[in-house]
Amino acid sequence: MSLALLFCAAAGLALGLALGWALGRRAAGAQRARAEALQARLDEAAAAPEVWEGRIEHFDVLWFPVVAASRQSRKVISVKAGVPHCPKCAAALVLVRGEWACADCGVRRPESLADLMVVDSIAKQALGQFLQRRRDYRAEGSTAA
Ligand SMILES: [Zn+2]
Repeated sequence: MSLALLFCAAAGLALGLALGWALGRRAAGAQRARAEALQARLDEAAAAPEVWEGRIEHFDVLWFPVVAASRQSRKVISVKAGVPHCPKCAAALVLVRGEWACADCGVRRPESLADLMVVDSIAKQALGQFLQRRRDYRAEGSTAA
């Protein structure tokens, strides 16, 4: 083997190693960026409140109250009773001329079915059901409605 050929082989090997090193650095940078993006998504998911939807039957209508709680502080943030739903088809009832009515099947219920006391009762029941399922959470500072 001539000295020139040996020199060319060594130069080729050096060039290959440098190229491989540069590509490796680029791949590591891309992997680091992907890892940082995934960590940001995990942090975002951990910061998002946990949302639980219950189902309560009360005076022949359905309620689907929603409880939201912080995963980090383990405190209930809000409790919302929502609106009454049709017992037959589970569609949300709409208040029409003093009555709750189902647009799908025509079921009608009196307006008093969802007065403030009932809504408060539904919210309290929902909070109780949530806390029964998630015993590591607390209700302090929550707002019910
Ligand atoms: Zn209905």
